[in-house]
Amino acid sequence: ASGSEENDVVVIGGGPGGYVAAIKAAQLGLKTTCIEKRGALGGTCLNVGCIPSKALLHSSHMYHEAKHSFPSHGVKFASVEVDLPAMMAQKDKAVSNLTRGIEGLFKKNKVNYVKGYGKFVSPSEVSVDGNTVVKGKNIIIATGSDVKSLPGVTIDEKKIVSSTGALSLSEIPKKLVVVGAGYIGLEMGSVWGRLGSEVTVVEFAPDIVPTMDSEVRKQFQRALEKQGMKFKLKTKVVGVDTSGAGVKLTLEPSSGGDQTILEADVVLVSAGRTPFTAGLGLDKIGVETDKVGRILVNERFATNVPGVFAIGDVIPGPMLAHKAEEDGVACVEFIAGKHGHVDYDKVPGVVYTHPEVAYVGKTEEQVKELGVAYRVGKFPLLANSRAKAIDDAEGLVKILAEKETDKILGVHIMAPNAGELIHEAAVALQYDASSEDIARVCHAHPTMSEAVKEAAMATYDKPIHI
Ligand code: FAD
Repeated sequence: ASGSEENDVVVIGGGPGGYVAAIKAAQLGLKTTCIEKRGALGGTCLNVGCIPSKALLHSSHMYHEAKHSFPSHGVKFASVEVDLPAMMAQKDKAVSNLTRGIEGLFKKNKVNYVKGYGKFVSPSEVSVDGNTVVKGKNIIIATGSDVKSLPGVTIDEKKIVSSTGALSLSEIPKKLVVVGAGYIGLEMGSVWGRLGSEVTVVEFAPDIVPTMDSEVRKQFQRALEKQGMKFKLKTKVVGVDTSGAGVKLTLEPSSGGDQTILEADVVLVSAGRTPFTAGLGLDKIGVETDKVGRILVNERFATNVPGVFAIGDVIPGPMLAHKAEEDGVACVEFIAGKHGHVDYDKVPGVVYTHPEVAYVGKTEEQVKELGVAYRVGKFPLLANSRAKAIDDAEGLVKILAEKETDKILGVHIMAPNAGELIHEAAVALQYDASSEDIARVCHAHPTMSEAVKEAAMATYDKPIHI
């Protein structure tokens, strides 16, 4: 490692925020070093987040389809079985291919990669594992986030697991309880539910996925219930007993009341994530954080300490990989004397269950709060020819547009491939398009994207197919 020479940019953390910032910095001609403690690049997302979860979601979906949908499409097997070790091996292969791929990108772009734990010695010096000191004119903190437990609940990654443990269970639990109905809990609950677990989701709040439009959320919850997922909303966990073979959870209504016992073989705690800055020496250089430990930055991603920046899950904003990447690029562009921009109101959110739910912009509740007059255009997937052709027609597209100007305010999609469909809406929102702009674009037939076009027609006129 070229520790003694001064870098233009030193990035602490090699997750989606950090590795993208490092590559972009190098592309802009800045001498760049990235320090990562994990032994592999890609951060939470590639190692224990987005990628392994999507690998398991895909594999478990294939099994579920083979078992439950193939016969009605005229495809028959004598029997369908799960080979869990093979499923896990496929997931691990996807992860290692991708993390090694980033090492390759570092080499190609001449980013210096240093393995070890970074700690500030001064605002322009970072020690690695307490030894080598790496110097940088600019230092970007991209240390991400970690799993958050609940008070009184100890995660042992065997019976009480975090999302990390839930990605590598060695057997399929008979009963899985998921504590927390955010997207991570619902995705992991879907994986194990498809493989045969009886899944119960316990949530303190009255609703699942709080960032979702409530009309779509209701349909989404019904879809998950049809798949066998059970929900105990407005419920809190007040006791955990792991002394027996499984786990006994004591539950209570969120507002207090009679207690009940829920038994599980495995409990997944997915109650949110917390910014990770342990051992980083932030207090030593005086970097300001808020009361939940997030590093405070200005619109240029600069902290209160000159030359020290922060991006990704460790700062306020949606805790998502693509947001971390956008932060990384914009931060480095500012450092290089250019302009960067990330609009957190236009960051898409996707829940990768089946059907998927994806959204960008405002929910109907947020639009109401803004007090603008608006119109709603909706189109059910049941009226979309492609969805009907493949017999996968649960869902809808919902578009919110300003009444006076028809400007798009928010788009919400529940569909098998909503995570892909949403980007047409993201582009439209970015360009301040009207709903009619989308409706007048020729969409290929038969595609599910036509449902987006028809929902757009429905905001200012009538759709054709319903
Ligand atoms: P991280 O990815 O957390 O990376 C930070 C890195 O910094 C880590 O590798 C860590 O080892 C390293 N580090 C920390 N401190 C130090 C130090 N002092 N010295 C050296 N290295 C250090 N997001 C999506 O957008 N889509 C998804 O589908 C999705 N699915 C998810 C599924 C799960 C189960 C989980 C847990 C998360 C998921 N996320 C998803 C969220 C996503 O993983 C995070 O938003 C994203 O990884 C944040 O990127 P980051 O670079 O800020 O931090």
